[in-house]
Amino acid sequence: MSLISRLPEVEEFLSRVQPLRIDGAEVAGSSELDVVDPSSGSVISRVAGAGAAQVDMAVAAARAALSGPWGRLSPHDRGRLIWNLAELIEARKAIFGQLDALDNGKPFAVARDVDAVWSARHFRYFAGWPDKIEGATIPVSTPNRLNHTRIEPMGVCGLITPWNYPTLMVAWKLAPALAAGNTIVLKPAEQTPLSALYLADLALEAGFPPGVLNVVPGLGGDAGAALAAHPGVDKIGFTGSTATGRQIVMASAGNLKKVSLELGGKAANIIFADADLERAVPGAFWALFGNNGQSCTAGARLFVHRSVHDQVLDGLRKLAEGLSVGPGMDLKGHDLGPVISRVQMDKVLGYIADGRTGGAQCIAGGGRLGDTGWFVQPTILAGVSDDMRVAREEIFGPVLCVLPFDDEDEVLARANDSEYGLAAGCWTRNAGCVARMGAGLHAGTVWINCWGDTDAASPFGGMGQSGYGREMGRDALALYTQTKSVWQGL
Ligand code: NAP
Repeated sequence: MSLISRLPEVEEFLSRVQPLRIDGAEVAGSSELDVVDPSSGSVISRVAGAGAAQVDMAVAAARAALSGPWGRLSPHDRGRLIWNLAELIEARKAIFGQLDALDNGKPFAVARDVDAVWSARHFRYFAGWPDKIEGATIPVSTPNRLNHTRIEPMGVCGLITPWNYPTLMVAWKLAPALAAGNTIVLKPAEQTPLSALYLADLALEAGFPPGVLNVVPGLGGDAGAALAAHPGVDKIGFTGSTATGRQIVMASAGNLKKVSLELGGKAANIIFADADLERAVPGAFWALFGNNGQSCTAGARLFVHRSVHDQVLDGLRKLAEGLSVGPGMDLKGHDLGPVISRVQMDKVLGYIADGRTGGAQCIAGGGRLGDTGWFVQPTILAGVSDDMRVAREEIFGPVLCVLPFDDEDEVLARANDSEYGLAAGCWTRNAGCVARMGAGLHAGTVWINCWGDTDAASPFGGMGQSGYGREMGRDALALYTQTKSVWQGL
């Protein structure tokens, strides 16, 4: 196996313990964290870990920056800085791609051409917003009064992100938060801190004043918990598991900070009897196996009409057998990389074993791949029933569960029988069914005859225990702004 050569900037970045980035400076942490390449299981670098003291420093820097040059910047110039950052990300997409491929394990080409490029697009979209965040003049009925609204930033925003899309999940939160004029303390996932630290350097290069973006990697229980509970933080934007989301809500109670939550999912994907199987089978396959199943929107419960069930299963099995799985930095290029960690690999293998014990048939994969790194064979479980753990709990790995169904009302009820409600979808050529599914599926996003599309302009978020708040589009600005009503006697 030959690996892609690391870029000189990446070598340099990995060669020293990366400090925290606070107030435009490099700051030591209270601990050091190993950064592991999940493709090999080896430590590739170390980063400083923040504790409560460093989170205090970062929050103070972010607070001060609100009333510094950043707070006085015109909306036009704020947009220009965000645009500058987008341009820098795109120009350095290979660096972002390598950093994410190294600590996350995803294929380098995907990390560069999808994650980094879409992150740049996200910043570009929000670069257009600062001078369009408008209040209103309200026609109040009191004589001799003028009433108008101002849409103001929240203040200091704590952003806490997961490891599955290290750059993109940061972009989803950071771009609208900056467009609205906030300052930021960002805690990236402990497994994937590299691109967030690099982004902090790029923000300074783009012209953002020191203190606007502070990055404090660290453990969730230390840096994350300190940020979520901090009395100087006005808002938490969180993406991660539902269990951690609950902890964040409880921690936020001290100062009643605003919270938005993008949490887990167990998306239902339905193939009806009349679906165009040429599109539906690969569509449903990649709905789960994209990003190695480590997506909150993964189409994990695939309901297939009994009349096409065996044909679909056969198509899925062939696709699984044709997948190439290997290290993110392999010169050959693969479809999928490893899962994020040994813990995650053991968890995924545990779910597969549990499904088999419960009576599911493994028609593809089913075990660990090789003995170096944390690779799991792309796995398809057939004969899954609704009450099995594999059908109810989020596995967050390359395991597709296939469940037969007989009619539309039945499958809609079963699809909606989940505590989650992030995404759902279906494949059909029946216009009536399209309309009924679009209205009836209980999820923040419904995909029909497609899967996984997102766009900076289109709202995204969860129902039920998949969270609250909508990222992207104009809805995202609502998460990072607050409305003030101003009365004036005439
Ligand atoms: P996680 O364990 O909940 O961690 C997410 C982030 O929260 C990490 O930075 C983590 O730090 C931090 N954290 C952990 N405990 C904390 C605490 N007590 N207080 C504050 N922060 C804390 O989730 P994950 O395993 O990284 O990511 C996978 C989950 O994210 C899945 O459930 C997936 O569905 C969800 N997800 C949702 C979306 C969406 O848009 N809805 C997108 C992507 C992922 P450490 O890294 O140190 O643990």
